Amino acid sequence: MYRHCIYCSADLGANEALESFPVGRTLAFDAAKGRLWAVCGKCARWNLAPIEERWEPVEDAERLFRDARMRAQSENIGLARLPDGTRLIRVGAALQGELAAWRYGDQLIKRRRRHYMLVGAATVAGIVGFAGVAYAAVGWGSYYAVHSVGRSLWKEYLRNRPIHTLAAHETPDGQRVTLRRRHLEGAVLRPGSQGGVELSMPRAVMMPSAKWKGVLVETPIVLPDSAARRVLERGMVHLNASGADRDRLTHAIGLIASAGSAEEYISGTASSRLALARDVNARRWMPGETALALEIALHEEQERRALAGELSILEAAWRDAEPIADIADRLATAPTQPE
Ligand SMILES: [Zn+2]
Repeated sequence: MYRHCIYCSADLGANEALESFPVGRTLAFDAAKGRLWAVCGKCARWNLAPIEERWEPVEDAERLFRDARMRAQSENIGLARLPDGTRLIRVGAALQGELAAWRYGDQLIKRRRRHYMLVGAATVAGIVGFAGVAYAAVGWGSYYAVHSVGRSLWKEYLRNRPIHTLAAHETPDGQRVTLRRRHLEGAVLRPGSQGGVELSMPRAVMMPSAKWKGVLVETPIVLPDSAARRVLERGMVHLNASGADRDRLTHAIGLIASAGSAEEYISGTASSRLALARDVNARRWMPGETALALEIALHEEQERRALAGELSILEAAWRDAEPIADIADRLATAPTQPE
């Protein structure tokens, strides 16, 4: 097999997913016709693999595609990303049973472990540190007072962690705004007035007061669909900072499955108009399982959209590659002319 693109001579790269065909970072295959292409990363053209080298890799590719956790499909073309970064383009009718982004769930379990390790380390350091200071300064009686002051300082620090910066054109006063974890308190996810969802944040921006000259007052901001999703994707990671164990994860994934799809789960959650996090003014806020499922659903939907955006481009590339493959294969299998 060649290692360079026959159209632009660029290196086709390598993959570790297909042992029988380690060439190409992106591979396209058509199991029905037994065709395989290495897709050039530079010019995006499809390089047909020699006919005698195809059977095994095409079979492997089909199996890997079916097992892939992240894939998107249109009528004729499917796209999957494998754990090693190899991308598989599958030509043929769509498979049933789309999208199972449970891979993301593993991250939540790891996050939980990390969280408890951090909390554990912080507690030990805190107890040793505060105990020393408290004992030296004021004796054991004040140890608990110092400890609780430390805790609330830590909580305040977490509340002020930045989660996202809104560009100037996204804010009512035309200034960039740094959104912090505390701005999610009382923020409500709801159905968007222009379709999709929107995020209403009651205290995100400080604007000059109409009543009092020179005074800044907290002004609510409403983020439309795409901006709302961007803020939520980052924000939910903070709200779900302690991650999840297997049981909670299974439950959260069950919530998405029973909604039908990630997107349906997101819009269903928006219709219940819950605050993302507890706040003095919020009457109802999201239970932990909902917050967890929302984070997973947002991530899954975002990945699906990214893959889906590529499908139409791939479909056009396949239509270019198909007639060339037809001719090449006919030439390769044609009986040789007698002398
Ligand atoms: Zn090329």
